[in-house]
Amino acid sequence: MKHIQIIMPEVKECSAQSCGFNKNSGCHARAITIGDNEVPGCDTFFAVPDPSSHAKSTGRTSGVGACKVADCKFNDDYECMADEVVVAYNNSKANCQTYAHR
Ligand code: SF4
Ligand code: SF4
Repeated sequence: MKHIQIIMPEVKECSAQSCGFNKNSGCHARAITIGDNEVPGCDTFFAVPDPSSHAKSTGRTSGVGACKVADCKFNDDYECMADEVVVAYNNSKANCQTYAHR
């Protein structure tokens, strides 16, 4: 596998413990995508029935690879420019809590 290095905002914390990439309130996907137009939901979320099957790569911290929420003040050209983001449940959906309307 080729290795590439990209600077991304860190996903500092995520409380969506039913997601397949979550372990101990951390996201361990390589990168996530936020947003579905105006809603800052985590597009990378997927529910797993068995929490013990969660991510193996717990030494890895995830970053925001892309964000489709253009009206967030941290969004530039569909990329997140915040230093870090926090994801948490909001009405049973995993949403970016760092979102701030322009
Ligand atoms: S940030 Fe998204 S992909 Fe990562 S654990 Fe949370 S809901 Fe899952
Ligand atoms: S802070 Fe704003 S730009 Fe960054 S991921 Fe969240 S919604 Fe997208």
